[in-house]
Amino acid sequence: MIQDLEELQRILVEGQRRSMQGSYQRRSPAKAAIPFLLEARSGLKTYVEVNGQDAKAWRSLSQAEECLLNYSAALDCLERAMNLSGQRDKKDLRRLALLKEYEADWKDLNLTPAQLQALGDHLNQKLLEEGCDHTLRCTQEWLKALSIAKPKSVMDALRNRGGYCDCEVLNNVVSR
Ligand SMILES: [Zn+2]
Repeated sequence: MIQDLEELQRILVEGQRRSMQGSYQRRSPAKAAIPFLLEARSGLKTYVEVNGQDAKAWRSLSQAEECLLNYSAALDCLERAMNLSGQRDKKDLRRLALLKEYEADWKDLNLTPAQLQALGDHLNQKLLEEGCDHTLRCTQEWLKALSIAKPKSVMDALRNRGGYCDCEVLNNVVSR
């Protein structure tokens, strides 16, 4: 287990570089990034258990959680970092607002990032085979097959994001 903060931050940066997310994007990190992000997160979690007063470490942990799309954990860690540093700088406040927005956005979609990714893979396959029939048929079938809770509200949320048919779900929601 790595106990050196700078080393953990290097692993995090490497994960961010490989994630292909750009900054503040809501898509799942690229597969090549995941081992780095998971290693950084688990190392940072252990690190803050011992060094709970280290604002820098909380900030890094917040970034790792954000890359892994765990927005409520990312928010929690950022708030701790802000409390520890005792100042509210504009950049932090902006990030806090964005994280809150993303958290609400996912909550309202009623799908986890992993589920949305899986829906995307399914639609990609289906649309290659059958093309889009200008309805949400494949999406609906997938929601039913996986017994996703509240399928109607998921479909409403997809429409609200510009997904009125299967190909639009793929282009406007999954790959956004
Ligand atoms: Zn379509």
